[in-house]
Amino acid sequence: MGAEGQAALRERPGADLLLLEDFDVENARLGLAGDMGKTAHAAYALELCDRLCPPRHAEPAVFDWLREFLLRLEAGRASAERLRVFELGLLGRLGFGPALDRCAVCGRSDLGEENTRWHPDQGGVLCASCTQRGDVLTSSTRRALAGLAAMSLDDAEALTLDRETNAGCRRAISGLVRTHVAGPLRSLDFIEKMGGDR
Ligand SMILES: [Zn+2]
Repeated sequence: MGAEGQAALRERPGADLLLLEDFDVENARLGLAGDMGKTAHAAYALELCDRLCPPRHAEPAVFDWLREFLLRLEAGRASAERLRVFELGLLGRLGFGPALDRCAVCGRSDLGEENTRWHPDQGGVLCASCTQRGDVLTSSTRRALAGLAAMSLDDAEALTLDRETNAGCRRAISGLVRTHVAGPLRSLDFIEKMGGDR
């Protein structure tokens, strides 16, 4: 799965999908098969790109980001830290990066230790003056998300998130993804059923 290569696509009058005429495999990514954790992370990364990218639009920055993620996944283990950095990097490259260092409504940036509310549909965190509703995003989760959003995939290799921080970040990112994707993500159900490092 996740083979990389050159595809020849043809437009068809009146059809949304392009016709795949030819596919020349350059890298089969064989290292991703045979490990359920790696397969699940790769399937999720590919589905996220598929569902978040607008149709018929070249996304070279997203392609490079996905490619680096898959190469690192192939060479290492399936790690939750790498997945978090990938998700936030992908969202940022598509212009969906959330406000984390300031309130998305009033722009106040002296959030300090304040527990903000998570409103991805309004652009990110909202301060206590702007709302008392919605899921609480603690200052530690907010700072962790901001750190992850600024990281390279190389940084992620040496990173260890504690269980609680990862779970908080995962929940917040999942809410953000859901504001941009209609319907469920099949590969996410797969990761959740597997348990493990997700
Ligand atoms: Zn505010």
